[in-house]
Amino acid sequence: MQHGPSNPSASSGEPLRAAVSLADFQDLIRRMYLEKDIARGIDGTFMWLMEEVGELAAVLRKGTHAERSAEFADVLAWLATIANVAGVDLSEAVMRKYGSGCPGCGQLVCVCPDAGKP
Ligand SMILES: [Zn+2]
Repeated sequence: MQHGPSNPSASSGEPLRAAVSLADFQDLIRRMYLEKDIARGIDGTFMWLMEEVGELAAVLRKGTHAERSAEFADVLAWLATIANVAGVDLSEAVMRKYGSGCPGCGQLVCVCPDAGKP
């Protein structure tokens, strides 16, 4: 399932062209959907994210590469959506937590014991 119906008029500014930063992507999602996302709220948006995660699980089992690719995009879009509604800057959050290496061991190539999730 896509994030929502295509509605070019809802978008201001430039579409994405080539490689995209996480900040640019979150901003694109904000420009396209923020009003609807705020109206839906965090709880409703979280349900959509979980539905997308379920769809990703399904295509990881038996989907084509194109289907997997599309579902990864959807999951990331819905994650960015929730971050927008919750007021979280994903790029800043990722840099703070992972920018200096593994949050568990501090290394750029994780050396945490396999038993624990870093
Ligand atoms: Zn580690």
